[in-house]
Amino acid sequence: MRPIIVFSGPSGSGKNTIISELLRQRDDVAYSVSVTSRKPRPGEKNGQNYIFVTPKEFEQKINENEFLEWAKYLDNYYGTSRKEIEKIQRQNKFPLLDLDTQGALNLKRRGENVFTIFIKPPSLKILEQRLRKRGTDSEQEIQKRLKNASKEMAFADKYDFVVVNDSLDKTVQTIDDLLNQLASSDSRRNAENR
Ligand code: 5GP
Repeated sequence: MRPIIVFSGPSGSGKNTIISELLRQRDDVAYSVSVTSRKPRPGEKNGQNYIFVTPKEFEQKINENEFLEWAKYLDNYYGTSRKEIEKIQRQNKFPLLDLDTQGALNLKRRGENVFTIFIKPPSLKILEQRLRKRGTDSEQEIQKRLKNASKEMAFADKYDFVVVNDSLDKTVQTIDDLLNQLASSDSRRNAENR
């Protein structure tokens, strides 16, 4: 079975753009839409960026064991739906996940079939510039995200692969090559087990 590909990196690292590019370029990947209790940002669509629910609804889903993993990040809940991952893997595709460091390392620790990738911005200064340019977060939110970014970066060396995103094209190419390698070792394993 294709491993789950987990991406982490501070918001503004370019993680979302990289995932979008991979989805555009490859037909053997699918994005696993997470569930969150965060309010939608302008332009975000329910079912596309996230499945938006109330905190109470999220807690109910926790109790019903709907999540492969979940975490609280800056006071909001975020979780990966078990069903969504199973659906993607049944299609023999790589599920692509965007998780915070707790979620990513939690899956790894539990021995799930995951490959973890950390996307680093070239510097914190550039990260700050990108967050401001994006214009979707308030000043207070930007400060919170910057503070969190330094904390998250400290976990980078626990990931299977770390890439500094200084050129989008180069980063996407690197990850594309990596997925090709993972796909061929998966086919080899399947052939051996046949
Ligand atoms: P944002 O609010 O910027 O969309 O996401 C905040 C953080 O939550 C990001 O670091 C993102 O990777 C993480 N995140 C999104 N979905 C999930 C999820 O399903 N589980 C976990 N653990 N983190 C998530």
